[in-house]
Amino acid sequence: IQQNEDIRSRIRTIPDFPKPGILFRDITTLLLDPEGLRLTIEKMAAQVDGKVDLVAGVEARGFVFGAALAVRLGTGVLLIRKDGKLPGATIAEDYALEYGTDRIAIHADALVPGARVLLVDDLIATGGTARAAVRLLRKAGAEVVQASFVVDLPDLGGADALRSDGIQVASLVAFE
Ligand code: 5GP
Repeated sequence: IQQNEDIRSRIRTIPDFPKPGILFRDITTLLLDPEGLRLTIEKMAAQVDGKVDLVAGVEARGFVFGAALAVRLGTGVLLIRKDGKLPGATIAEDYALEYGTDRIAIHADALVPGARVLLVDDLIATGGTARAAVRLLRKAGAEVVQASFVVDLPDLGGADALRSDGIQVASLVAFE
């Protein structure tokens, strides 16, 4: 039985985006649907295990789910941005892409040392983005207690890699 069919059925699959051969899982249809959005946040909140001081959302779709979840959990939200967007002093972390590297950043003064942080993004594939986010948050003194995603692509191994980094991983829907 597929889990969370109410979420799965509201995610659209677009072939050949951003490149030929890729099946892009498009969560914009889920966000447009009031019941879909509400259910997603309720179910993500129900998966949170233990006390969370702060939610960290990854640019850009992670901001939407992260902010909504933060309201639901009664926390603030930390924006993990692509490098060069934040106005204050930052801490950054590089990660490998298929071709080249990318860099994410947070404000250097955003975290209270020891803060229990829940990392949120829409989807985990290879885990490159989420693992870099974990390194960045840890470098800034946070304790990353969990990472939550709407979608997991388990064949790409990202969730397992995150678990090997010592992170508890939760997701609502898996696409093989
Ligand atoms: P990873 O770093 O785990 O390989 O890729 C995950 C990141 O790329 C996430 O920030 C996610 O938003 C984006 N991403 C990769 N593939 C997809 C996809 O099929 N659908 C969506 N919505 N995002 C994707």
